[in-house]
Parts: sequence; structure tokens; C-alpha cells
Amino acid sequence: MATIVNVLEKEELSKSDIVNLLHVTSSCELQKLYDKADQIRKKCMGDQVHLRGIIEFSNYCARWCTYCGLRSPNIELERYRMCIDEIVETARKAHSLNYKTIVLQSGEDNHYTIELIEDIIRIIKSEMDIIITLSVGERPEKEYERMKEIGANRYLLKHETSDRELYKKLHPDMDFDNRINCLKILKKLGFETGSGIMIGLPNQSFESIADDILLFKELNIDMIGMGPYIPHPGTPLYEDYLKYGHFTPDIDYDLEEMVYKVVSITRIVNNTAHIPATTALATTNPAKGRETALTRGANVVMPNVTDRKYRKLYEIYPSKVCTDEKPEDCRVCIDKRIRSIGRIPL
Ligand code: SAH
Repeated sequence: MATIVNVLEKEELSKSDIVNLLHVTSSCELQKLYDKADQIRKKCMGDQVHLRGIIEFSNYCARWCTYCGLRSPNIELERYRMCIDEIVETARKAHSLNYKTIVLQSGEDNHYTIELIEDIIRIIKSEMDIIITLSVGERPEKEYERMKEIGANRYLLKHETSDRELYKKLHPDMDFDNRINCLKILKKLGFETGSGIMIGLPNQSFESIADDILLFKELNIDMIGMGPYIPHPGTPLYEDYLKYGHFTPDIDYDLEEMVYKVVSITRIVNNTAHIPATTALATTNPAKGRETALTRGANVVMPNVTDRKYRKLYEIYPSKVCTDEKPEDCRVCIDKRIRSIGRIPL
């Protein structure tokens, strides 16, 4: 018991401190960790929960990520693309539902040239007072520059794991250094920059998760999204999952609990980062996943604003929550959930 109290009182957590915290399983010790994270969240970020309305505007993707249902070789998935008018209309819907920020997310879809993306940003910005977050993958520096100039404010690009070997397994056609370089460029250009990881990947070690948490700090990441890895049967990584399960084969931890631990430790290490209670966590525990994360370090929720007809098709993983709902339903539901734990939706 003394050990966890000592660790939590430290000014700065080392990698081995973080690994030790990830191994904690006693409910009494875990409560101390969660309480500490919640105190820091309250002190540094207040009781407001920031809402970001997410618009999933295309499920086409050129990448081969071995965990994701949108991967290019997945021929089982029916593909869709929203045209500019639909995207702008969805942004209007988000604005009318009082979202202050929208997140425009898609697979890596080259159909949306930089010119098209500029038009989308320009039209939305000229019509509405709303913050635009983009999440459209890796692009050349010049394109990020133009997005920023035209008025995009934030950018999300998760590094997914800092374990290079695992990264390669997850992204056979991608390069870890390039991903990190994109994050550095985005920071340099003045984007409020988001990264994040999946938790519970087959062959993921606790050491690598500690590295992830320290990397967020090193890169001064502003928004940190962390959710459970949800196995998708139509993807190659599924076989590894069947063979090894979550994490390295010798670690058998409760995945949902691990996500809360990682959220809490991330809050303790990155005091002022925006940390969402992710949709993937709500998929693992629809009743209480997001609420619980909000009381253990998180301060952001990203409700879906995508039109109902497209929701089921943005199937990055199976059984995603809120795919039958309308944007209005999600707005009301999330408001209630946030107020139910005594917090203030913003
Ligand atoms: N193309 C964009 C957006 C990716 S989709 C980009 O490259 O940044 C958004 C996120 O979904 C990914 O970053 C990943 O963290 C998450 N995701 C994909 N498949 C998943 C799975 N099987 N389980 C959990 N999260 C997954």
C-alpha cells in the first residue's frame, strides 16, 4: 500500500513507476490511482466536459492497417463518401446541436484532394463559428500547412503504439518515424495536436504503454485518445488475437480496467491534455464506460453527428455503439450522461 502512495506523490513518474502502476490490481490501490487522476483533472481542467461532434465523412481507405475494418483490402465493407454539400450540411447539424467543435474524420482517402479539403474548411468557417478538427491521416507538410492557413484548428493522428515492431505488424505499409514526424510538423504549424493509442493489442507490453504515455509528454501532445483494441474478425490481426489474446501472452488483465489505468496515469503525467472518454470504451461497456473514464481522468466526449445511413458502414471495429441513433439522440443522451455524474457539458 505504501508503495503506490509513494509513487503517486512523486513530482515526475519514471517509466518503471508507470509500469508498476499498470500492474496494480487491488481495488483499494486502484482507487487511489483513480482519485489522484480525478483530482488533477478537476484542478487543471475543471468540471466541464468538452463535446466534439464527430463526422465520419468517408470510409474509403488506402491503408492496410491489420486491425481496422476500413482497411483497403476489406472487400466485405460497403463504401461511402459524402459530397461537400453533405459534409457542410452535417456540420450545420452539429452547429445547430450546439457543438463548438466538429471532428472531420475519414479513412486515408485520396479522393479528398487538398483543394477539396480547403473548400470544405472554407465553406464551414465562413458560415459557422465552429472549431474544426481534421483527422484524415498522413499528408505532406505542404497540405497540412494549407489546411492550417485556411482555418483548420486541430488535427488528430494517433500513433497507435510506440513499439516499433508492433507498429510494423499493425501497419505493414507505413513507417513509424513518418507518423511521429507528421505529429511534429502539426505541432510546429500550430495545430492543437492529438495522438493516441489502442490498449490490449496482441503482443503489446506494459513497457511499451509506459513509453506511449511518456511520448505524449515528450511531444507535448494536446489531445490524447486511448481506447481498448476491439478485435475485428475480418482483419488479419484477429488471428493474433485468437492466438495471444490481449497484451503479451503472459499478461492476463481485465482490458476495461487497463484502459482506466492508462487514462488515469496519462492524466497524472500530462496534466493539461484533453483526454476523451472514447467510443471504443463505450463499446466495451455501453452502460458506464464513458462515465467511468470521465471520473478517472478524462474530460472530453466525442458524440457521433454522422447521418444514420452511414454510421454502420464506418465499421472500424464490430458492435460499435450508437450506430442506430440520430445525431439529435446522441446529443440528448450524452448531455444526460455527463450531468448524471455532476459534470457540465460544454
Ligand atoms: N485515417 C485516420 C483515422 C483513423 S480511424 C488516421 O489514420 O488517423 C480512427 C481510429 O480508430 C484509429 O486511429 C484507431 O485508433 C481506431 N481503431 C481502428 N480499428 C480499431 C479497432 N479494431 N479497435 C479499436 N480501435 C480501432
